[in-house]
Amino acid sequence: MDELPVDDVLHRFLLERAGVRGTLVRLGPAWREVAARADYPPALHALLGEALAASALLTGNIKLDGALSIELKSAAALRLLFTECSDHGRLRGLARWNAPLPAPLALDALADAVMAITIGNVDRGQRYQGLVDLRHAGLAESLEGYFVQSEQLPARILLAADGEHAVGLMLQKMPGEGGHDAVQDDDAWNRVVHLTATLGAAELLTSAPEQLLYRLYHEESVRLFEPRPLAFGCSCSRERVSAMLRSLGRDEVEAALAARDGEIEVICEFCAQHYHFDRIDAEHLLSMAAAPGAPGTAQ
Ligand SMILES: [Zn+2]
Repeated sequence: MDELPVDDVLHRFLLERAGVRGTLVRLGPAWREVAARADYPPALHALLGEALAASALLTGNIKLDGALSIELKSAAALRLLFTECSDHGRLRGLARWNAPLPAPLALDALADAVMAITIGNVDRGQRYQGLVDLRHAGLAESLEGYFVQSEQLPARILLAADGEHAVGLMLQKMPGEGGHDAVQDDDAWNRVVHLTATLGAAELLTSAPEQLLYRLYHEESVRLFEPRPLAFGCSCSRERVSAMLRSLGRDEVEAALAARDGEIEVICEFCAQHYHFDRIDAEHLLSMAAAPGAPGTAQ
């Protein structure tokens, strides 16, 4: 077999003997690109990496049209955390905060925190959104709770991030089929959970994906599917920025033009792409009828 990619990759797999399906995401350059956009405090850096890995991880077993995003807003010092994975495996993310941030950063201690998972196509207005119950300090435990509730199936999620890599591992017990022995199923699931519990963050972060899976689960008949490549990428465009400016209205656009010698500059916070609009551009975009379903932000 050819050497499999070890970074920026999503692996789906089955543990055939145990009746468990899984996804393993390992990010390298894509994570470092996102992390480099701001000088994140260590606790937030780690959480952003985990959330970025998780946004890819959660696309593993769904048919995705558009993107999957994880968004956290709170009234605490961590104001916003946003990560997204598109159906083409493009990843982006950012966080906004006020210093000082509490460390460690416990999700269940954030004031008025809301975390949403949104799946779908923003441009077509087809979106599904689910809220994650933030009753745990960690992101992995919180997302596990979301899965157990939404799919009524046991799930185990591990997330880890350091300066080089962001990694996520998710296991789900597959629904028992007719004739299966439920006790046997539970034994198999418990066995896999125990094996998974031996995995520390350091090993998760340093191991090549297929080696990790074979080492942990070789007795469970690991079946790997074709890996999916992932990469840093942004869905911003001049059209989306124009729609965002149009949504601000004429007064705000005029004020922005006046403030900067007749030119508006918009810089994408995800990818640092610069967009420039002069008075003629602004007049043109304001005269266009707002497209139905146009997003209200440059995201
Ligand atoms: Zn961008």
